This record gives sequence, structure tokens and C-alpha cells, in this order.
Amino acid sequence: MIDSHVNLHGEAFAADLPEVLARSRAAGISGCLAICDRFENFPLVAAIAHREPDIWASVGAHPHYAKDHQGLTTADLVNAARNDKVIGIGETGLDQYYGHSSIEDQVRLFSTHLRAAQTTGLPVIVHTREADQLTADMLEAAFAEKPFPILLHCYTGRAELAARALALGGYVSFSGIATFKNAHDVRAIAEMVPLDRILIETDCPYLAPVPFRGRRCEPAHLVHTAQFLARLKGVEPELFAQATTANFFRLFARAKPAGASS
Ligand SMILES: [Zn+2]
Repeated sequence: MIDSHVNLHGEAFAADLPEVLARSRAAGISGCLAICDRFENFPLVAAIAHREPDIWASVGAHPHYAKDHQGLTTADLVNAARNDKVIGIGETGLDQYYGHSSIEDQVRLFSTHLRAAQTTGLPVIVHTREADQLTADMLEAAFAEKPFPILLHCYTGRAELAARALALGGYVSFSGIATFKNAHDVRAIAEMVPLDRILIETDCPYLAPVPFRGRRCEPAHLVHTAQFLARLKGVEPELFAQATTANFFRLFARAKPAGASS
């Protein structure tokens, strides 16, 4: 199975990334998408992807850091995306829960990413928290101008945004949050999203699933989230793994399975 959202370049994995990746592979994780959080960190993310055949990269800037990316342009993202290990734009989006950056800065930066997705045809990886309405409105407006693939990552929003993204052909990814005791709303959405539109992720080092909750998360933990979601959806774990992997490669069409000839 594929971990569609990992944060590998930071401090959390600085001491033992090779061991973390070895455990991940041993657990059956056949690929990971390493996410760019700040544009200045893109070289670090890209370097990991170039070193590891089963890791791809995204390019973008998290909405938390919108205030630090006033000068980032669509051309910056499009140029970085020429790197052949880059398969997605983001993560980007809107976060009014933490509010680390003003909503104006977040909207501007999200628009910059949406234009990059339109230009490159790469999927946009969307982070959204307490901003469902505006996120859906912006996705629909940009999509109407020129369509692009959409992924709602680590989904914790309401049913309406998920439905509006699905209506645009989008995909929805679930993290270890789905296994948390009180996450009834997230589980209700996971039950609703069709099996051919679901992706899975750890969002490591954050959000370790039960039974590792509260510890550092790593890609190997994806197995627990996948088993949990398979049970929730009433499908065999093997089938669920195959479906989510196929979904990943359908959405991130630039990614090739490790070992496949291009
Ligand atoms: Zn996120």
C-alpha cells in the first residue's frame, strides 16, 4: 500500500530516517509521497525523493506558513514541478482553526497553487480545517476555469465539502484520525466515500493511529489505519490495500510504481 502523505524532511526523522524507511518497507508500504511544507524546504524533500526509488515529492507551502510566502508565484511552483519526482502541488489550502496566517494570505497562496495545478495538470493536495465553504468555492471556481485533479488530505471536514470535491472527480484521503475514539464524524465520511476514491496516509510524524496514538508516527503505522478502514467499509484488507493503491496511481498519474519501467 501507499502512504500518500508523509513529512520526512523535518527534525522528527533527522536521526533515523533509514531505519524508519526500512520498517516501512518491511511492513508492506510500497511507496510514499513526501510533502513539501515550505517552499524553501523543497530541495530537502526532492533530495529524499531522488535518493529513494519508492518515494515521490510534492511542491508547495502549507497554509500555516502563508504569511512567509508573500512572494511565491505560480511560476515558482511550476518550475519546481519540472523535477521528475514531483507528482503533486501542495500541500496547500485553508486553515482557520489554527489561524497561523491571515485568511487573506491563505487565500492568495491557495490561488497560486490552484493555478499551478491548472498549468501542470498535477493534483492539488488540499489541507482544509474550519474552512469548508471557502475551500469548496475556490476549488469549484478554479476547476470551472480549467480542470485539475483534487485530493482532500487528512480529511476531517464535513460531508458537503467531500461531496463537492467528489463531484469534481476528486479523491479523499484518511489518516490515523479515523481510528481515534471520538472521530465519529470522520468515520461517517469514510463510509460515504466510494472505494474507488479513497486514499490513505499517515501524515507522519503526526497523528499516529491507534494503538500508537500519541507516539511519533511513521509510515509503517499505515497498516493499522488501512486495516481499520477496511473493516469500517466491510471489505477484505487485501482488497482495500489494492483499491487504495490503484487510486493513488490513477490520481498521481506521473508516479510509476517502484520497479516499473517508464
Ligand atoms: Zn495537512
